[in-house]
Amino acid sequence: MTMTESTSLAAYRMLIDGEPAGSVSGRTYDSVDPFTGEPWATVPDAGAADVDAAVAAARAALKGPWGDLTATQRGKLLHKLGDLIARAAPRLAELETRDNGKLLREMAGQMAYLPEWYYYFAGLADKHEGSVIPSDKSNYLVYTRNEPVGVVAAIVPWNSPLLLLSWKLAPALAAGCTVVVKPSDYTPVSTLAFAELVAEAGFPPGVVNVVSGWGPEAGKALAGHRGIDKIAFTGSTAVGKLIAHAAADNLTRVTLELGGKSAQVVFPDADLDAAANGVIAGVFAATGQTCMAGSRVVVHEDVKDALVERIVARARTIKIGNPLDEDTEMGPMATDKQYDTVLSHFASAREDGATIAYGGAPVDELGGWFVQPTVLVDTTPSMRAVREEIFGPVVAVTTFTDEDGAVDLANGTEFGLAGSVWTKDVHRAHRMAARLRAGTVWINAYRVVAPHVPFGGFGASGLGRENGVRAIEEYTETKSVWVELTGATRDPFTLG
Ligand code: NAD
Repeated sequence: MTMTESTSLAAYRMLIDGEPAGSVSGRTYDSVDPFTGEPWATVPDAGAADVDAAVAAARAALKGPWGDLTATQRGKLLHKLGDLIARAAPRLAELETRDNGKLLREMAGQMAYLPEWYYYFAGLADKHEGSVIPSDKSNYLVYTRNEPVGVVAAIVPWNSPLLLLSWKLAPALAAGCTVVVKPSDYTPVSTLAFAELVAEAGFPPGVVNVVSGWGPEAGKALAGHRGIDKIAFTGSTAVGKLIAHAAADNLTRVTLELGGKSAQVVFPDADLDAAANGVIAGVFAATGQTCMAGSRVVVHEDVKDALVERIVARARTIKIGNPLDEDTEMGPMATDKQYDTVLSHFASAREDGATIAYGGAPVDELGGWFVQPTVLVDTTPSMRAVREEIFGPVVAVTTFTDEDGAVDLANGTEFGLAGSVWTKDVHRAHRMAARLRAGTVWINAYRVVAPHVPFGGFGASGLGRENGVRAIEEYTETKSVWVELTGATRDPFTLG
């Protein structure tokens, strides 16, 4: 980030109350392209006053025409937005790659699939039914209503800005909420461009608002705002705890999608070529900058050498370079901070006694924030590289001798976001799926998500679930309605 008054860069505006907006202070900042290391776009630098305006617009919109729409009409708007995203997908993908340095082919795939979130929740909007409850009191009709929770703050990280936003926005809008979005300070641009589509789709002013700001200021102002009814956060466990504190102070509802240290468990009967490919997909795709990175491999000692050999052979051939090039397989780290974190893990892995089977160094010839895909072996659970989320292309391999040992190693973490089991034994596969403490378990697969499948974490990986039918409940208040049917009076001094 650089604070400048640049005029030559593409300039983006926020969306507040249906209008393109600069910041109240007039401040802007430049977003930096991680591949070139150069500023490439200018965005408003919002502070508390901008957040106040966005929250006020969202609150007013709850009562405006949006509040009068039927669920079916909300669904139609969501569907329209999905269509507009499909049309804009190539451009949105390029904006994301310029902002976060992830492969264009990865972001293009995400953007092409993104409309599905809006179509799924568009369909769900008028199928989220209340219920008539068979009452034990014959003189009462009892039913429930699903009402929107109110104003939602959606706070999003830099690694998949629009995907992770959509996991919040689509169910929130389907439920009838209004939303204030705060993209990551490192990757605001695609979300600001996306806001133009929201306006074009015909959502009334104030239903969706977007504020961009450098550093934690705007996010803090939003998370602690008394005009917010629910916070939907994706990001690090450390910031997630701050969000939970802010939510506790105002008794705001909260869902948290946080970090991970997910294990890929490989049994001796596994297809080792497929497992090695799964490990590559799990931790080297997206340069390891994904919450669900399979950053620990827990492998039976009999097949460890054969598996590591395959992983290293593929790691050697990974093409590192410009994320905009179609044949690039690993781009740079997204920020200088992430780059430094990964290098510090290389150093501590050596100090802790891990063996570096491959990698362990920056890619100097490319300059910038490139690191090698790295395979650590002879690791133990107490090592820093095995305990902490690295958020980079670093995998730590540990061995087991029996299934109980594999479960203990895989579950020996404060996190519980995801995991996988590689085996051809169908009994063991389902047994292991039940025994792993993680919100998602893939069997003979890795890194697959969909709008209709719940996603979220156990333990330090978060609170609540996104996606799936029940995600809409995270944005709904349940109201119970009791209707007296006889018109009779009753003893006023007893509980009915
Ligand atoms: P981060 O926690 O640093 O930031 C996330 C968001 O919070 C950003 O918008 C940031 O500006 C904002 N923020 C920072 N400080 C704040 C504060 N004090 N109050 C309110 N908001 C604040 O995370 P990041 O570095 O952008 O993203 C990487 C992290 O996100 C990793 O830990 C990763 O595992 C996690 N992640 C989780 C999931 C998931 O679904 N579980 C998905 C992707 C990323």
